[in-house]
Amino acid sequence: MEHPANTTRREFLGGMAALGTAGLAGCSGLPFGRSDGLPGRGEFVIRGAHVMTMDAAGDLLDADVHVRNGEIVAVGRNLNAGGASVIDGRGMIVLPGLVETHWHMWNALLRSMSGDKREHGYFPTALNLGKAYLPDDMYQGTRLGAAEAIHSGITTVHDWCHNIRTPEYAASNLRALRETGIRARFSYGAAQGQPGDQAIDLADLARLQRDWKAQSNDGLIALGLAWRGPSTGATGSVAAAAYRKDFDAARALGIPISVHANNRATGTIALLARDGFLGKDVQVIHATWVTPEEIAALAGSGASVSLSLYSELRIGFGFPPTGDFLAARIPVGLSVDTTALSGNADMFAIMKAIQNIENARAKDEFKLPARRVLELATIEGARSLGLDDRVGSLKPGKRADLIMVNTREVNLAVFSEPAHMLVEAAQPANVDTVIVDGRILKRGGKLTTIDTEQMAGEAAAALVALRKRAGWW
Ligand SMILES: [Zn+2]
Repeated sequence: MEHPANTTRREFLGGMAALGTAGLAGCSGLPFGRSDGLPGRGEFVIRGAHVMTMDAAGDLLDADVHVRNGEIVAVGRNLNAGGASVIDGRGMIVLPGLVETHWHMWNALLRSMSGDKREHGYFPTALNLGKAYLPDDMYQGTRLGAAEAIHSGITTVHDWCHNIRTPEYAASNLRALRETGIRARFSYGAAQGQPGDQAIDLADLARLQRDWKAQSNDGLIALGLAWRGPSTGATGSVAAAAYRKDFDAARALGIPISVHANNRATGTIALLARDGFLGKDVQVIHATWVTPEEIAALAGSGASVSLSLYSELRIGFGFPPTGDFLAARIPVGLSVDTTALSGNADMFAIMKAIQNIENARAKDEFKLPARRVLELATIEGARSLGLDDRVGSLKPGKRADLIMVNTREVNLAVFSEPAHMLVEAAQPANVDTVIVDGRILKRGGKLTTIDTEQMAGEAAAALVALRKRAGWW
């Protein structure tokens, strides 16, 4: 949050204290009000939940999760947790926080603004409004996106930032990520409208990487490259010399690279393979036009794929061949992409659509099981971002990114098969508690560190001013 005026913050924290007595159910000793605005990590144990470890241990009934100082120290039944605060997990499914793998968070300000005429489609909208952004608009958009992520049970995002007009834009965007406490990869990209023969600001990228400790929020945020590659967007194609320069700079810095493959024909991935642009450090987005040879090239290189169902469907990129990627053992993550097209950041809906569309394509009720889809949204998404040593499953030694889903809600009762309940029935509003790196960021259905009413008001005002500057109505 943007550090609010003292009175506002005091009132807000007072509200949180009231929530504490009503909703924290015996969970005390979780200090708020640190100077960075994020709650302390503390020590607590969630007791009596249905725990889905998304690991070899499988599901544990009536089980506990013990967290200390941001780390999971034990998962099991009747844990001896000493003086840890107790969080009542009865009636809750506890699972790893959902992992999102590609999202242009800056344009969360443009929610549902992709219009019905060609000139108001997503690409011209992002281009024309993006060009009129001020640095603070990056903050407003990213904070709104991160808040919605936390609300929806997403604990990791891949913020694909392709509107860095000056170093200030990147700084403003990163500040929003740090203040919300979310785990993220921040991928540094071009500005909207940047000429196709120009490389990105490689000096600024190198400077950021050198001083990354100041940006990383104690290791919660990593740096990557939002690579334009050979895909075409609103501003036309990028010259091969420019995109190669960007790519080589990222490789030299040792940071991961992500690229869209959304040309309306196969061939992009073949080109990437031919020119040496695939590898374990490369993520390919969409890949809905793909040949069997290109799938083999992706698999052979170790590259991962990010699928963003609701933008792919809405903009007409087509149906992703999810089952083909999985059969080739390509790490697959799920993504939001942009709420200018998808409307919201509902990972439960994304999971449901991934399963239903794959089963429809295969004309097979049993093609893609719910539990496999849940893996894509947790441990496999983490693997696709290179974070599976830290998050994506619940086991001792991992960082404490987890969520609690309230199965007593009207759209989730009765308790049947938890993977199916989460993929088919759950909604963001059912997410009772969200914990990132041991910090409780949502509790009792409410965000703990973000005054959502104030945030929405500031974002709305920023959008009004932005539209005015851009002459975009
Ligand atoms: Zn995208």
